[in-house]
Amino acid sequence: MTILDGKKISNQIKDEIATEVSRMKERGEKVPHLAAVIVGNDGASLTYVGSKVRACERVGFESTLIRLPNTTSEVELLKTIKDLNENDDIDGFIVQLPLPPQIDTQQVLMAIDADKDVDGFHPTNFGKMALDMSTFIPATPFGILELLDRYSVETKGKHTVVIGRSHIVGRPMSILMGRKGFPGNSTVTLTHSHTKNITQITSQADIIISALGVPNFLKAEMVKDDAVIIDVGISRVPDDTKEKGYCICGDVDFENVSKKASYITPVPGGVGPMTIAMLLKNTLLARERHRANNK
Ligand code: NAP
Repeated sequence: MTILDGKKISNQIKDEIATEVSRMKERGEKVPHLAAVIVGNDGASLTYVGSKVRACERVGFESTLIRLPNTTSEVELLKTIKDLNENDDIDGFIVQLPLPPQIDTQQVLMAIDADKDVDGFHPTNFGKMALDMSTFIPATPFGILELLDRYSVETKGKHTVVIGRSHIVGRPMSILMGRKGFPGNSTVTLTHSHTKNITQITSQADIIISALGVPNFLKAEMVKDDAVIIDVGISRVPDDTKEKGYCICGDVDFENVSKKASYITPVPGGVGPMTIAMLLKNTLLARERHRANNK
């Protein structure tokens, strides 16, 4: 069994990006600038955004964090997005999800300039991804592809089962694993909360990508020998033995499933760090396109 070490690979990717940023500086070019907008005080969201800003500093990007109160209206948030769209100094930006209930997430995502949409959530970018065109791939699925690539995990002709059909993980993942090329060329089954007999489906899978957010959902009896297991889930589970009062738990019963798997991602240290690394990669791409368009 091989651990797909997202922490190690994400550090390699950050080093590669930092080298590219140093070269940009030597050439006297502007370095990439990522902005992040967060609405409200959700603890997990603040942690994620903090990690993204720190990652920007680590590779030499400029970063801007815009914090808005929980009471922000949709109109006010759309005005912030318009300003970021028009700010030539910003190469890419993200709006941290989830948003408070008074704001329509879809309206917000559609207001982001597709050329600055480094999360890859805008319908234009999602459509391009589905059509195999060059675009920003959502960071979590992009990170999973990169992990499979760097560990040379065979995907061609394999049966990939994706659990969860969210717009940010499961749905794009199912499209990407079925695309022509590597990683891809899989036969994909996309499962969700209405799927019947899910154990029957997962136990036939060569590759399982679990993104539902239910701690320890995937048990050893749901997995065949030598399967590749990608655990996207991040849940906070109360744990009095931890200083913070909770532990971070994936969707997979790691202790037992890892005994059967050929490759498996840990939680934490698997898909999570890859997501941040690929957001940086998308921001670098946004900077390169921005420069090319301004010539
Ligand atoms: P989401 O929007 O909450 O969607 C969950 C999906 O799981 C839905 O499609 C739902 O089906 C499906 N589902 C729920 N219960 C199920 C069941 N018993 N059997 C089969 N499918 C079931 O989730 P998300 O935003 O994709 O996030 C999923 C998990 O990944 C969360 O723990 C989140 O924190 C984590 N996450 C991690 C990263 C990372 O960087 N590692 C990034 C993003 C998300 P329906 O569509 O039928 O409701």
